[in-house]
Amino acid sequence: MTTDKPRILTGDTPTGKLHLGHYVGSVENRLALQDQYDCYFIIANKHAFTTRADKPDDIRQSVIDIATDYLAAGIDPAKSTMFIQSEVPAIDELTFFFSMLIPFNRVMRNPTLAQEIKDKDLGDKYPFGFPLYAVGQCADILAFRPQLVPVGEDQLPHLELTREVARRFDQLYCGVDPHLEDKDYVKAGGLFPIIEPKLGRVKRLVGLGAPGADGNLLKMSKSLNNAIFLSDDADTVQKKVMGMYTDPKRIHKTDPGETDPAKNPLWAFHETFNTDTAWVDEHRDLYKNGKVGDVAVKRKLVDVLNALIEPIRTRRKEFEQRPDEVIEVLRAGTARANAVAEETLALAKKAMKQDYFPRELKIR
Ligand code: ATP
Ligand code: MG
Repeated sequence: MTTDKPRILTGDTPTGKLHLGHYVGSVENRLALQDQYDCYFIIANKHAFTTRADKPDDIRQSVIDIATDYLAAGIDPAKSTMFIQSEVPAIDELTFFFSMLIPFNRVMRNPTLAQEIKDKDLGDKYPFGFPLYAVGQCADILAFRPQLVPVGEDQLPHLELTREVARRFDQLYCGVDPHLEDKDYVKAGGLFPIIEPKLGRVKRLVGLGAPGADGNLLKMSKSLNNAIFLSDDADTVQKKVMGMYTDPKRIHKTDPGETDPAKNPLWAFHETFNTDTAWVDEHRDLYKNGKVGDVAVKRKLVDVLNALIEPIRTRRKEFEQRPDEVIEVLRAGTARANAVAEETLALAKKAMKQDYFPRELKIR
């Protein structure tokens, strides 16, 4: 395995399969970067327990589904490392220490948590572990001391928290001067880099459904039942697209936003996935003037999406025939992830003066 390339850490919660939002928000970047960087992709199964503690079978299946999706999308296990979060204990140990470095109210002010509580209708019944997962995510990332973290826009508040934890740790335990610029922390002896997010081509792909209570289209999400999955067959893609929400006001010509991708997901999808920009421009005008309807524009979108998904779907079928191979990729990846995370934890304990006994960890 390469060791001198800069590292990337990113990943997914196993709450379902990968969808088009993941593809443009993160997976495309991962594919583009896997040659230049030493990439680590975490399958964050513990985070899935924040909302699905009663569904362990589903979480287990989703772990395999996501790994299969990675392979089908073109993540190469010879270059990149995919691993299971719960088999990397150093992450949990760092989480506990990090939770001491950040005020509880600061965690609760994280807008992504607030949005998730609203979108997933968690009310005030969410478990103690729900806010804790935001601190855990700091550890998911920092355990790998990565240079770059490719994510969708919804993750930026989490990454800001991660940056705060890293600064605090480096200042408290590594003697880094708080006036230093973020990029100089490691040079000045800090253990943790003040990480940089890298947004995808599309920061936030919308879902197939109608706007939420606040009038905005919801983001495509595994948990919101508004996604087209990389594993959907051609008929399912067709059904989902033909049934998708479009701006109802356009029929009455009351809304100048009828082709606005922020209001009409049909156009958000064409702009994101249809590479024939001349077609998009022409049909946007026709649509605006009522000369072409939803059905024609949706049919075109079905073709565009199926062309994108078809090769992924085919490769996925092949990996589905070889589940043992997927498990072996995860086993090897988890062993490599532990090597890095254990090293980070040992360095962190040393910095905190809690390095009593060295230890070894082995994946069998
Ligand atoms: P869940 O509903 O369980 O939260 P999710 O669909 O939001 O699932 P995550 O596993 O939370 O997916 O996110 C994995 C990565 O994919 C993150 O970097 C996230 O920013 C990105 N991502 C998820 N949905 C979108 C989207 N609709 N557009 C762009 N990026 C996305
Ligand atoms: Mg999410």
